[in-house]
Amino acid sequence: VDFRLGAKSDAFRREVRAFLQEHATPEMIARCHRTGTFHDWDFHRALGKKGWIAASWPKEFGGQERDACEMAAFHEEAAHVPMDGLGTTLMVANTLRHVGTAVQKAEILPRFLAGDAIAALGYSEPGAGSDVAAARTRAVRDGDHWVINGEKVFTTLAHEAQFVFLLTRTNLAAPKHHGLTLFLVPMNIPGITVKPIHTIGSERTNSTHYTDVRVHDGCRVGAVDGGWKVMMIALTYERATATGREGVPVLDDFITWAQRARDESGQRVIEDSAVRETIAKVALRNEVSILLALRATWVSSRGGLPGVEGSMAKLFYSEMLQKSCSELLAHQGHCGLVQRGEPEMAGGGWVEAGHRHAAVTTIAGGSSEIQRGIIAHRGLGLPKPKAQ
Ligand SMILES: Cc1cc2nc3c(=O)[nH]c(=O)nc-3n(C[C@H](O)[C@H](O)[C@H](O)COP(=O)(O)OP(=O)(O)OC[C@H]3O[C@@H](n4cnc5c(N)ncnc54)[C@H](O)[C@@H]3O)c2cc1C
Repeated sequence: VDFRLGAKSDAFRREVRAFLQEHATPEMIARCHRTGTFHDWDFHRALGKKGWIAASWPKEFGGQERDACEMAAFHEEAAHVPMDGLGTTLMVANTLRHVGTAVQKAEILPRFLAGDAIAALGYSEPGAGSDVAAARTRAVRDGDHWVINGEKVFTTLAHEAQFVFLLTRTNLAAPKHHGLTLFLVPMNIPGITVKPIHTIGSERTNSTHYTDVRVHDGCRVGAVDGGWKVMMIALTYERATATGREGVPVLDDFITWAQRARDESGQRVIEDSAVRETIAKVALRNEVSILLALRATWVSSRGGLPGVEGSMAKLFYSEMLQKSCSELLAHQGHCGLVQRGEPEMAGGGWVEAGHRHAAVTTIAGGSSEIQRGIIAHRGLGLPKPKAQ
């Protein structure tokens, strides 16, 4: 089997690499990790200038018609760059492209594609995460406006975004999946407050609160009570950017450290057979993670939607990342417990940082249990799990 992405992707990869060398500076990356805001406006605007915010889109919509293999090359090269704003905004932009109004397409899409505006995702609520269709944030019609009241959690980048893509309940009488409506709400209107939530993986997210927020019906995306179908469009794109490579820099950093560090008897850590066994196990898991992500890319490249394949890739890489970081950290002993950025950290600190980040990966973007439910139901045809 030939897993190479092809000459066209190799050429794009070289272009992306040169761009990243210029714009994804170590200072920018360090700042994102320090503040927890995994978005940088200068970098994002530079992406927009290159036409890479929606590089895979048809040219008539402002894209470059990059194919799935070229996009995989892009995400492989940029895997170390904090780009949360690109991910969330692209999900919303894709949705607008499919079901947005003419005005939304003419006025908001160009701002997204230029890198001048980003959108946060306002789905999860206290009590409605995995079961997101249980959302209780209310939108009530008032003439040609809607009045919104409620609370969201984990609204990542709400403190930077110009818009929030807000899931609301518009019909209390209908079954829960049929009473939802989505709005693209500007963040600068009265009634919205944003409070920081700092997570274990250093990423800052937010809770967002909506009190009598009035929006024009022109902010609605899709049909009234048709929000679940609109959500499905956005969610289809959520896992399309996974590369399965998160464990690679962690293992590289560990190996570099183990080649230099010595144990109490003076022996180099890398010479310990237990350490070498762990390194081999982690390398194998990384390889399988990458292959599963490539399989999802392959489905996309043939015009399919890699729902089950995306779930398998996400489930495997996130659970293996936790296992791998935990095992590598154990070999680093007390040095491994020093937080990344401190002078005494082990190596570049990526095992410790990876360990904390890995804890988030099995929850954000759909938990492992939900991914298993998707694989069992959609992939294997078993009965539908309760929360979907
Ligand atoms: C860092 C971070 C960033 C995030 N960013 C965003 C964002 O930008 N926008 C947004 O809207 N949300 C965001 N989320 C929220 C994320 O999507 C939810 O955390 C996730 O869907 C899980 O929901 P929950 O936290 O409410 O957990 P719950 O749904 O309460 O789940 C708790 C536990 O129960 C398990 N469980 C739940 N239902 C089932 C079931 N049917 N079968 C088996 N087990 C089940 C889960 O797997 C989990 O282990 C973010 C989360 C994190 C951690």
